Amino acid sequence: MPAEQSPDVPDEPTEASVAAAEQAALEAFAAAGDLEALKAARLAHAGDKSPLALANRAIGQLPPDRKAGAGKLVGQARGRVGQALAERQAALEAERDARILREEAVDVTLPTGRGLVGAAHPLTSLMDRISDVFVAMGWEVAEGPEVETEWYNFDALNFDADHPARQMQDTFYVAPEGSNLVLRTHTSPVQARALIDRGVPVYVVVPGRTFRTDELDATHTPVFHQVEGLAVDEGLTMADLKGTLTHFARAMFGDAVTTRLRPSYFPFTEPSAEVDLRCFVCAARTGTVDPGCRTCGGTGWIEWGGCGMVNPNVLVACGVDPERYSGFAFGMGVERTLMFRNGVADMRDMVEGDVRFARQLGGSL
Ligand SMILES: [Zn+2]
Repeated sequence: MPAEQSPDVPDEPTEASVAAAEQAALEAFAAAGDLEALKAARLAHAGDKSPLALANRAIGQLPPDRKAGAGKLVGQARGRVGQALAERQAALEAERDARILREEAVDVTLPTGRGLVGAAHPLTSLMDRISDVFVAMGWEVAEGPEVETEWYNFDALNFDADHPARQMQDTFYVAPEGSNLVLRTHTSPVQARALIDRGVPVYVVVPGRTFRTDELDATHTPVFHQVEGLAVDEGLTMADLKGTLTHFARAMFGDAVTTRLRPSYFPFTEPSAEVDLRCFVCAARTGTVDPGCRTCGGTGWIEWGGCGMVNPNVLVACGVDPERYSGFAFGMGVERTLMFRNGVADMRDMVEGDVRFARQLGGSL
């Protein structure tokens, strides 16, 4: 060993030391099981402070006649180590890529365990849309209980004690007998509740579930939905009712819809009327009534709901002065509206809970 060599300069490379360093490097690369381990092995055996790098640096200190031999010795070793490193790097990268492909592979033939995505029921979507029409005019949405007292369901609405609607064959009474509770037969009790709770003037739209003792068939269901409207203020007239209904009908069925009011009777409105729509299937489309039309029964008109001016007796029952205030009310069947609007032919589709029905209509109303 030359005496002038400084302490931090490594020994002169020998065949044995270079071979040992190369051997150690090759073994470390081969032992590296993944790219992380190979990185550590590279730093240790091919990095700036690795034995071969130090040996290379030591060549500069050698006398000129020994530089060439040592340079060749170290250079060839480093070349082989570099090649081995590159080969191992390539092999481990290929292994990693293959593993990722294997682990992230999707077998499109596997049966899915994924649950179906649901949708809002079309009746719910439609009631929301109807509510939006009235909220846009400054009305409020009101709700009431589905189990209702007879007083709100009948008495406050001017039904006589012996009115046929009170009969057991029309109304679900809640046990025990004499509870005076019913499943509400219409959303109209919310009229009385709104007048009493909110006072006048009042403008409310009332979507909700109602109950009657009908058998389920294509056009009847014992649980159905109504949208009720009530406006009580000073100076309201039948013209306000007609204008409101026309706006409502256009929002539901398009600007081309034609409505008419046909005299009728309800205990809680006076005068009362049925709201009819020009038949979409024959009259409104072709201009002539088809006597065989099943939608309108050959009349050219289809019944949409009931309406009228609030009976003064209802106002009095709810503590409102009928000399000063007047109002109008209307109620539409939501199922009927959905049938006419979206061509749903069978009411049973609306109650069977088939998600395909909900997905078909629920998002598009
Ligand atoms: Zn028709």
